[in-house]
Amino acid sequence: MRKYYAIIGKPVSHSSSPRMHNSAFEKLKMDSIYTRYLLNDGAELKKKFLSLGLSGANVTVPYKEDAFNQCDEVMGIAKDIKAVNTIILNDKKLIGYNTDAPGFMQSIKEFYPLKSALILGAGGTAKAISLAMKKNGIYVSVVNRSEKRLKAFDAYGFDLFTWDSFTPKSYDIIVNTTSAGLNDDSLPMPKNMLDKLLSNAKFAFDVIYHKDTPFIKMCKDYNVTYKNGKDMLLYQGVLAFELFTGVAQDDSLICAFRDGLELG
Ligand code: NDP
Repeated sequence: MRKYYAIIGKPVSHSSSPRMHNSAFEKLKMDSIYTRYLLNDGAELKKKFLSLGLSGANVTVPYKEDAFNQCDEVMGIAKDIKAVNTIILNDKKLIGYNTDAPGFMQSIKEFYPLKSALILGAGGTAKAISLAMKKNGIYVSVVNRSEKRLKAFDAYGFDLFTWDSFTPKSYDIIVNTTSAGLNDDSLPMPKNMLDKLLSNAKFAFDVIYHKDTPFIKMCKDYNVTYKNGKDMLLYQGVLAFELFTGVAQDDSLICAFRDGLELG
């Protein structure tokens, strides 16, 4: 019987997830369809998931915490992050996972071994990435422009700074998780601090994936080896696909996802 999956969020029109998953379904000749659903009220997430007859879904901004709260069971690192981006239906129950965190770790494998990381920003993505890095033995520091969102990191034992309390030093990798540069030309922190950080860093990563941000341009100027967020997006999808279908990832599955992603 045909199975249905969807990306649920607001907005969803820009999402590459349907193209990636449908490309894999086509390659594996599976009778499944992945679509998109614009949800206006996060409180309705579980009800909508069930009424749409979905076998699984990905959840994006701004509903990952609603998904965490509404799943019947939450697995793995999603419990620590308190955010769910992948839901599967199992025995009429919604089971929630977070594949953003392991997807990020898979996307930085070529940078291993890493001992220390500085995360710029303290939003939802910063939380997923910093907890995943900590679980993988990397010493994590977080710096955010303001104090408020850093409070959510108090329990995790990271070094926490605002711009005011931060003094740049040497880190193996600098990860920009802020939305600076997404729709403007701003840097994620004052340039004089980034000058010092990038002249001492081995690697850099920007979670933004559809453009060269001012941060990435600075990485090029400093000859720092960098990646953007495209592979993170790809691997969170591949890992969700494994949960949806039970098909373990291999080169051909990754290739199908890459083909879907390249379609736009
Ligand atoms: P949040 O809104 O939860 O957090 C945004 C963070 O960015 C906050 O810490 C905020 O600081 C900081 N910030 C925003 N603007 C600036 C600025 N101009 N200068 C400095 N800091 C700034 O966002 P998310 O964590 O949900 O998303 C962040 C980014 O990650 C987005 O660009 C999103 O597209 C991308 N993303 C990429 C993924 C991928 O697969 N590649 C997956 C998920 C997200 P403050 O607290 O002071 O407001």
